[in-house]
Parts: sequence; structure tokens; C-alpha cells
Amino acid sequence: MASDAGGGERRRRRVLVFPLPFQGHINPMLQLACALHGRGGLSVTVLHTRFNAPDASRHPDLAFVKVPDGVPAAVAASGRVSEIILTMNAAMERDGEGALSPSVREVLASVVATEEGQPPVACLVIDAHLLAVQKAAAAVGIPTLVLRTGSAACHRCYLAYRMLVEKGYLPPKESQLYEPVKELPPLRVRDLVNTNDELVFELLARIAETVRNCYGVVINTFDELEPVELESIRGELGNDNIAFVLAIGPLHKLTSMSIGSSLNLSPDQSCIEWLDTQETGSVLYVSFGSLASIDSNELFEVACGLEKSGHPFLWVVRSDLVRGMNRACLPDGFESAVEDRGKIIQWAPQQEVLAHHAVGGFWTHAGWNSVFESICEGIPMICKPQFADQMINTRYVEAVWGVGFELVGKLERSKIEKVTRKLMGKNEGAEMRERAKHLKNKVSHCLKSDGSSQIAIDKLAVYK
Ligand code: UDP
Repeated sequence: MASDAGGGERRRRRVLVFPLPFQGHINPMLQLACALHGRGGLSVTVLHTRFNAPDASRHPDLAFVKVPDGVPAAVAASGRVSEIILTMNAAMERDGEGALSPSVREVLASVVATEEGQPPVACLVIDAHLLAVQKAAAAVGIPTLVLRTGSAACHRCYLAYRMLVEKGYLPPKESQLYEPVKELPPLRVRDLVNTNDELVFELLARIAETVRNCYGVVINTFDELEPVELESIRGELGNDNIAFVLAIGPLHKLTSMSIGSSLNLSPDQSCIEWLDTQETGSVLYVSFGSLASIDSNELFEVACGLEKSGHPFLWVVRSDLVRGMNRACLPDGFESAVEDRGKIIQWAPQQEVLAHHAVGGFWTHAGWNSVFESICEGIPMICKPQFADQMINTRYVEAVWGVGFELVGKLERSKIEKVTRKLMGKNEGAEMRERAKHLKNKVSHCLKSDGSSQIAIDKLAVYK
């Protein structure tokens, strides 16, 4: 995204980025923006929706431009992710019908119109869910790159969506859930998507279309972590004339800038002081990401299971963690019963927490960012996946990398006590910790100056 002008002088270029407005998608896109800005001083403009708008004041080096999104307040408040994404895309695609004012195409055209002193735009990096934005960019003549914020395994699976339907794997049938998907080992039918929701299938089809129409793909993973999956994606997209597939992760390690929470959630730093008082490797960190929810009975079971396990824990209880409630009520007397060894907060500085010496295990919903951040710090995991790519990530944590296992079935206190002891204990837990340390070393290699991800991001920064 920088080019050599006459006499070998480097001419500055501008890159636009447009994240999907959810925490797990905004963070990696902003990390990519900061990494590109840090290399060759590329100028970066972040286009973003009004819905879940990132906090521009936290990123003074980046320019921010708001784009109308057409998501009605009721849909935004529903928390139904698939519906929000499709509603947004539909409004953006009704271009010329006055659905949005200004339209995405008009915003893009005005951003591209080079003002004096402004470098020209090289490309727009979009989230794979933003087909409507890609169409608008094509109309204005801006090439698009796609950032996949999930793993390569997930990306390979989503690209194979049509094949999975044709071969009868999707929609998933109850009787076939444990059958292997021969074409995508080690996935089983239950790992693909755990829903029959038509909206989800529409999303998958649109992701595949966006990727096949772009110029190049960047994935938040690294070559040594998912070599087979990356090779398969490169082979397939090479046939579609996609110029490159770059593995550029872990993005949060490629920039020194802390993204923290890009939405309006303030990380509670008091948990770091609390972790300082705990023994090395003793604490189980529990967090279900920014979107996953549980019911009030499950909340009780988690609380009682953590209490019974006897292990110190740091638990993120978001105010909207319990479905349909805007406040999570813990069992009476729970907080005083665990006050010596339990800390409850609403939002964690997660990367700092996982890097803290006191943390020895992570109970996660297995969103890709959480899994990848845990891998980067050598922390083994209990995974309790709910939707989207979380089942795929869980399968890889357990069957490929051996750095954790799935908590299968209902959330019950005795089961939670048992899995906590298994992860934090000396037998299987110690083996998983060992493998996690080994993976952490691989992360360090890919981040060295001659490491695969550094080379990939440098290639991206000079893409013309
Ligand atoms: N996160 C955080 N504090 C928390 C919980 C989550 O900073 O208390 C961050 C986490 O580090 C990760 C992101 O939120 O970068 C969650 O992304 P992920 O893909 O794991 O899950 P999602 O929220 O998209 O389901």
C-alpha cells in the first residue's frame, strides 16, 4: 500500500478499513489499521457504522468516518447478530433508492476524492460480512481486500459452504452430528454450525461471495499454526484469481498500540492488582466474550461450580450476560463465600489478564480472538462453544493442538467442578499446559523480524 515514486522516493498511500461492528471484528481490524500505520506511516481511515461505533478518541493516529447503516433501533437492541448483519447489508445495497443518506457509495466517493495534501487511496480492507460495502467500493473503483477475523480452519469451512449443502452435511441432521466431514478433517457435522437458521446460511453464502470478489485475503492466524488449512485456501482461491492469501496474525501482537475495548466497555484494571496477589498458574480466568449469553439457571450453576472447585478464579460477568436481563444477579451469599479466592468484574483487560503469571487456565466461549489470545500466552482452555465459529475453534483446540477440551452438554455445578480440576490439575492439565507452551514458542517465531507474520504484514504494507 506504499509505492515507489520517481527516484525511489516512497510516496505515502492511504488505506481505508471497514470493520463489522462487533467487538471480535472491530478489534482485529483496528489492530491491522495500527500495524499498517506503524509500517511506512501509511495513512489509515476507518469507516464505521453508527451502530456500535468505535471510540475514535482512543485512536488519534487514525481518521474516522461514519457511514449510515440502516439498522433500526429495535433490531440493534435485539442482539440478534445475523439479523443485524443482514439488515445492515440490505439497507446499504438499496443504493440509489434513498434508503440511506448519504449512501455508502457516496461516502466512499467523497473519502476517495483526494484533497490537497492527502495521499491517494490504495484499497479498502473490509470484513468478509460486508458484501454491500464491497459492491459500493467496486462502483467507485476501489479494490477490496478481505480481513478474516476468524481462523483459517473456519475460513476454509465457510468457503466450502456450497459443497457442504450439496453433500448433505448442512443443514445438520440430529442423527449425523458425530459423523466426520471427510473433506474437512478433523471437523464433524456438529462442528460446522449448530443451527438450521436460514439467516445463518445466507450469511455463509454472502461471505463466500465477498471473498471470491476481492483482490486478496488476510487472515488473523499464522502459517505454522494452520499450515494445512492455509494451503487448502491458497489452492482454492488461487483458482479464483485472488492475488494473495496472507496469514498475518496474531494481529494484537503486531502493534504496540493497545486497542483495549473499542466499544464503550471499560476494562476493570483492579483485577490485575488482584492477580498480583495470587500464586503463579493458580487462577482460572472465565469469560464468554462480548456476545455469548446464558440463562439465569446456568449463571447459578457456573457460580456454584466455581465455588465448589476450590480454585481461585477471575470471572467476567457482563451486565448483559444473562439472556433477557440487563443485570446479572449472582446467588445470595456467593460473593462473600468466595471473597478470598474469587474476583468478579464486568469487563477485563483480557490480553493483560492472559499474560499474567497468576493465570493458569481459561474457560472461554471459544471465539477466535479469545482462543488466539490464549494460544499466544500459552494458556490451556476449557471451551463451551455456543454459535458461529466457536465449535470449529473448540474442535481445533481439542483435537489438533491439544491445548484444551470441550465442556459438553448442560452447565451443571458438578461438571464445572470436575472440568476445572481437570484443566488446573497435575495430570491431563499439565500435558495441555506443556503443549500450550510449545504453541506459544511458535507464536514467538512468527513474530520475529524474519518470522512468517512479520514478512506477511510487510508484504501487505507495500502492496500496490
Ligand atoms: N474481551 C475483553 N475483555 C473481556 C472479554 C473479552 O477485552 O472481558 C475481548 C477479547 O480480548 C477479545 C474480544 O473481546 O479480543 C472477544 O472476541 P472473541 O472473538 O473472543 O469473541 P466474541 O466477543 O466476538 O464472541
